[in-house]
Amino acid sequence: MKALAFHEFGGPDKLKYEDVPDPTIGPNEVLVRVRACALNHLDLFVREGIPALKTPLPFWTGCDIAGEVAQVGAEVQGVTVGTRVAVNPNLTCGRCEFCRQGEDSLCVRYGILGEHTRGGLAEYVTVRGDNVLPLPPTVSFEEAASFILTNMTAWRMVVTQGRVRPGQDVLIIGVGGGVSSTAVQIARLCGGRVIVTSSDDAKLDKARALGADVGINYKKSPDWARQVFEATGKRGVDVVIENVGAATWKDSIRSLKGGGRLVTCGATSGPVGETLIPLVFWKQVHIIGSTMANRQEFNDVMRLFFAGRLKAIIDEVVPLKDGAAAQQRLAEGKQFGKIVLTP
Ligand SMILES: [Zn+2]
Repeated sequence: MKALAFHEFGGPDKLKYEDVPDPTIGPNEVLVRVRACALNHLDLFVREGIPALKTPLPFWTGCDIAGEVAQVGAEVQGVTVGTRVAVNPNLTCGRCEFCRQGEDSLCVRYGILGEHTRGGLAEYVTVRGDNVLPLPPTVSFEEAASFILTNMTAWRMVVTQGRVRPGQDVLIIGVGGGVSSTAVQIARLCGGRVIVTSSDDAKLDKARALGADVGINYKKSPDWARQVFEATGKRGVDVVIENVGAATWKDSIRSLKGGGRLVTCGATSGPVGETLIPLVFWKQVHIIGSTMANRQEFNDVMRLFFAGRLKAIIDEVVPLKDGAAAQQRLAEGKQFGKIVLTP
């Protein structure tokens, strides 16, 4: 089969669209013929090399996968060849105390398909039989692939960790990103009033079209935390949704009202941020980490997607062989929503 593989770590120039061995399946696995695979920053991090990860080479990433079941392992129940599916990218042991509580992303052996194992930037991928979810005919492969990872992540952040309630103010930082852009529609679904930041007025307009109430251009207004303060009657917001990290961390905490909750799932601008500790204890704010989602949250958010209550946000669809340029575009932050590759 063809894959967008790399044999050494580095920039997009290391990616080669080349022939690789066909994957095989075990008794509890299915083979999925990939029809669409969306890009995430994770693809870039793995390609550049994560020292702790010990990625086997050659490797190909890709964790947002939709396709057709091509082969079914002997022990897999209820999955048939030809079924159109979305793939849950969680890799879990199923046995540890967290798995037993249903907290997949806290599993002691937790991994992500396409990060810890070879992924969907290829014609075929092997996944566990209970990680495929049938797609309704109304949902395209491209829409499904673009939806999965960012929405399971944003759902856990906004609903489970952020506990957004009707009428609450929600600040979403850097709204061009995949998690941030869809967090707008999820926060709206929860009844929140949404404030977004971006360096780009066009992205602020797109966020307003998704339901954002207030847009702040942080390039034009370096003191954007003050604008958040003004936009909330000098109270601050109930919830901040963060994945930018170092560049915004200090002001994100500043933007919280007393008892507010900052939920973070990433640090794309850098891993070390400045925290004013008195602000944390005096305003009694909560700083909450969040990674991916558990199976229940995955099913909940996919059900709302299938019902048409949450939309896929697609920036562009590109052939897999042109994936290097697409990854460069993602690295430069030029997209709004997801870039989808099709083998
Ligand atoms: Zn586990």
